[in-house]
Amino acid sequence: MCGIVGYIGDQEAEDLLLTGLKRLEYRGYDSAGLATVDESGLHVQKREGKVDDLRNSLDSAPMPGTTGIGHTRWATHGAPNDVNAHPHVSTDGSFALVHNGIIENHGVLKKKLKEKGYTFQSDTDTEVLVYLIEEVKRAADLSLPEAVRQALTQVIGAYGIAIVSGEDPDLLIAARNGSPLILGVGEDEYFIGSDAAPLVEHTRQVVYLEDGEMATLRRSGYNVTTIDNEPL
Ligand code: GLU
Repeated sequence: MCGIVGYIGDQEAEDLLLTGLKRLEYRGYDSAGLATVDESGLHVQKREGKVDDLRNSLDSAPMPGTTGIGHTRWATHGAPNDVNAHPHVSTDGSFALVHNGIIENHGVLKKKLKEKGYTFQSDTDTEVLVYLIEEVKRAADLSLPEAVRQALTQVIGAYGIAIVSGEDPDLLIAARNGSPLILGVGEDEYFIGSDAAPLVEHTRQVVYLEDGEMATLRRSGYNVTTIDNEPL
């Protein structure tokens, strides 16, 4: 289990996310990646190696947007390489997800998704979760937050996840079960961290998500429910 950061607000996300990932480096990791969102959609960059390698590669291709997520990976399923690095993106390119932990029933879910025509690019358990959300969303024409919630009711395992949508720059979704995730509350801006280290320089107001909880964050505010849809 390694690191997650997230941001939604008025500041450019790229630098905030990279600095946040640097604060999580002490945990050890093998690859790093970011997804940001602006009016033109999703921007995703990820690679094996250090956060500084990612930062250097972004010098020539900056990632615009004031909403974003970042990840440092400690591989559990699939080798440390660029393809297996997070974020992972839905097949329609509409959303990106980062994940800490292990999806224990990924084999069963993957088999069902393959039968529905999904082709897997990576060896990760995480890509299974992305396509599961996409399939739940598509099959019942759900909003992304509702699809995430319903998909998570089918998942067994430990996870902290963060998601951004290329179709909605004013949306950041976070959920956890058995893997820590903290929300940092600022003035019209929010931060996510898999521990407090990336948050403390921005805010002292934090909300600890509990196991089985999910947060939907927009610039105007956030709400938290259980995965079973009880409001909190
Ligand atoms: N199980 C996921 C993978 O291997 C996430 C690993 C992590 O927690 O960094 O990509």
